[in-house]
Amino acid sequence: MSPDNFLSIYIHIPFCIRKCRYCDFYSIPFDVSLVYRYIEALGKEWEMYESNPLIKEKTVYTIYIGGGTPSILDIQMWKKLDEALFSKINMSDVKEWSLECNPESFSIEKGEMYADTGVTRLTFGVQSLNRRELSICGRAHSADRALETLNDSGLDGLFNSIGVDLIYSLPGQTPETLDNTLSKVFSVPIIKHLSAYELTIAQDTTFGRHSKRLPVPSEELSVQMYELIGKRCNRRGMRQYEISNYAMPGYESLHNKAYWSHKPYIGLGASAHSYIHPKRWSNAADAESYISKIFDGRSAVNFEETLGPLEIAAEMIFLGLRSEGGINEKEFAAHTGIEFYADGREKMLDEYSSSGFLEKRDGIWIPSPKGMLFADMMARGLIPRKKNHTA
Ligand code: SF4
Repeated sequence: MSPDNFLSIYIHIPFCIRKCRYCDFYSIPFDVSLVYRYIEALGKEWEMYESNPLIKEKTVYTIYIGGGTPSILDIQMWKKLDEALFSKINMSDVKEWSLECNPESFSIEKGEMYADTGVTRLTFGVQSLNRRELSICGRAHSADRALETLNDSGLDGLFNSIGVDLIYSLPGQTPETLDNTLSKVFSVPIIKHLSAYELTIAQDTTFGRHSKRLPVPSEELSVQMYELIGKRCNRRGMRQYEISNYAMPGYESLHNKAYWSHKPYIGLGASAHSYIHPKRWSNAADAESYISKIFDGRSAVNFEETLGPLEIAAEMIFLGLRSEGGINEKEFAAHTGIEFYADGREKMLDEYSSSGFLEKRDGIWIPSPKGMLFADMMARGLIPRKKNHTA
């Protein structure tokens, strides 16, 4: 079966105990009656997609439940989700089913239920194990609670993979406090995957509104932190396979790799994004409006675009420079119809490879860990531009 026949599904659960100060994801307060209607709507939205000929022919390959805080759902709600949605999806070829959990709402009882349903991979939103950094971020859990959760022996053997998400370059953070967090995370033997994202301050967040007063680390310190994460992961036998993702061999996220290699995916729920070549679309970031549209039998999509060759080229370059998958020159030409070495790209590629940012292997341009850090800069030099035609 061709991988192009595979489909990934993302399911957005937007509910959270409270809003973290840096968060610009679509998330809303936990509200029991809204949760049940939302779950029903997810099932109905999938039924609408299922009858679409573009989807019908595809085989579900990966599932990812993110948020928000999916682990906030109690056992009854999860059962309802199973009945309303999971039971309608053909799971026979699913290779990976990931679920985001937060320490404050996770329990081993829930973990056992997730495993029974078919979830294969948990990823815990820990962000930091430093008391002060967690409090500045407004996280709902303590460092102790997060460590207790990860160390619970009840997790042993329940899932194929358990991972942790961290944020670095937090206000007040230093390489020493980050190193301490990494030591604690790596003291947990079952951790197979680490996602470490550099903090970005979005305007419409509490951090964004107080950005001038935030003691964020300098760019130099931030680079030191990125390098520290790489070193610590290397020592633990975890390989960097994307700018923010590290895994023990064989534990890379298939779902993320499908995104980065332009495989088709459907997003269910408010604010969820979808892509089936050459179209990309997303649902409105509003749970009430999402529910009412779906219950009326209408689509919840409020944005749609068709990608042309230039947009596809830009995405292939942008994503390829951030991941070990790199940019495959033959695939680039086949997908975009644009000659890979044209428009001065050959000269730029020579320059980047002599700086140690890129390496060519079997027709694929692969970024080094240092190169991934300069992905944006390299992308600016490689992305084809629209030609200006003057009469
Ligand atoms: S738990 Fe996650 S989704 Fe919810 S507010 Fe915090 S960062 Fe945002």
